[in-house]
Amino acid sequence: MAIHPPEPFRIKMVEPIRLIDPPARRQAIERAGYNVFALRAEDVFIDLLTDSGTGAMSQEQWAAILRGDESYAGARSFERLAEAMRQIFGFRYFVPTHQGRAAENILAALFLKPGQYVPSNMHFDTTDANIRARGGRPVNFVIEEGKDPTSQHPFKGNMDIQKLRAFIQEVGPENVPLGMITITNNAGGGQPVSMANLRATAATYREFGIPFFIDACRFAENAYFIKLREPGYTHKSTLEIAHEIFALADGATMSAKKDAIVNIGGFLAMNDENLYQRACNELILREGFPTYGGLAGRDLDAMAVGLWEGLDENYLAYRLNQTAYLANRLLESGIPIIEPPGGHAVYLDAKRLLPHIPQSAFPGQALSVELYLQGGIRAVEIGSVMFAHPDPDSGEMIYPKLELVRLAIPRRVYTQSHLDYVVEVIRKIAANRERINGYRFTYAPELLRHFTARFEPLGQTVTA
Ligand SMILES: *Cc1c(COP(=O)(O)O)cnc(C)c1O
Repeated sequence: MAIHPPEPFRIKMVEPIRLIDPPARRQAIERAGYNVFALRAEDVFIDLLTDSGTGAMSQEQWAAILRGDESYAGARSFERLAEAMRQIFGFRYFVPTHQGRAAENILAALFLKPGQYVPSNMHFDTTDANIRARGGRPVNFVIEEGKDPTSQHPFKGNMDIQKLRAFIQEVGPENVPLGMITITNNAGGGQPVSMANLRATAATYREFGIPFFIDACRFAENAYFIKLREPGYTHKSTLEIAHEIFALADGATMSAKKDAIVNIGGFLAMNDENLYQRACNELILREGFPTYGGLAGRDLDAMAVGLWEGLDENYLAYRLNQTAYLANRLLESGIPIIEPPGGHAVYLDAKRLLPHIPQSAFPGQALSVELYLQGGIRAVEIGSVMFAHPDPDSGEMIYPKLELVRLAIPRRVYTQSHLDYVVEVIRKIAANRERINGYRFTYAPELLRHFTARFEPLGQTVTA
């Protein structure tokens, strides 16, 4: 295998992109309240905001779209998706949802009472918010190495099993109606979880009678990391590894916009029949009938094909190496990132890149604005804007340990020369870092505030 296996596809359709000039970029970001979520996509050159729903579908997926059966109930599209679900995940039941967060909302509705805890290695922002929105308390027990941006641990997404056990014993299993784990750990750098750790997590939850649900958004990338890094898995296929993972759990949520390489879709899967019936009732209320769940039949078909393509090992080798290529080039340039890189993104360490900006002035936010100003690149802050929150008991602000800016790589979309351009822009930013200032909120909603918040620069305005 080459060090950087080239794209296992060629380009059949192109979508033009353009870089608007620096004054136009400055105007655009001011108009957006310095929040890149409020930019028009037309004003963005390289869009690394997310790998969610931004992938390029294959010719087989587009062909499947045309086969979509739009029957309200019992559509063929549903049956094709159910077959892929059965072969890959093996849960007895599932309902399609329009996105991952819809599955999380239903899961929270089925399990949570106010004041109860939901542990995970690290909840993603929508999971965290769906738990809080029902009065629950999300708690994170990722291993210490997972919080150290320079640790070379091969599975930095692992759960700290000692801490998890101690916590459940401390608050009492009756206050933990549900246990989760996120594979890969998006909020912690896209880091994988080992099979051994998944097994230990499952055993711990089982010991206390707590149902175990996997946030499976990037299960295929996680399975490939296990194949590459965990002893005993080299000769297993990613499908076999996926079987082994999901046999450990009582259910899963998934945003199909990630490893199923579709533009919209998700699901909630489970083994328990009674839970499934309750999930159907919630689904009908919020999403749609259980055989379409808020999606068109054609979306279900694209998902059924994409789930298989996401598991393809030639694709996964290219995918993980593309991320590693970007990471290695940044490291060669002395840019601090989370090491080793995860599957779907490279995370810039804004705390180390901009040490002069305190967490209260949002260094990650400042860096994301600069990426746009300097290169028309859109990336997302994953730091205090997203996660700082007042302690529910004391009201004191709690800041996250990491201040990151995520360069998420859409699946099968950008080429290596796009990534080379991104590296050049970041090198330029690093060379002028001391001229970058922090930000403060001018508007911030209570939940998921990073999506709609507005900001103003502190002190001098940032340099163009
Ligand atoms: C994207 C994501 C979600 C939420 O999925 P949506 O489809 O965006 O609602 C949940 N968990 C993880 C780990 C994710 O990456």
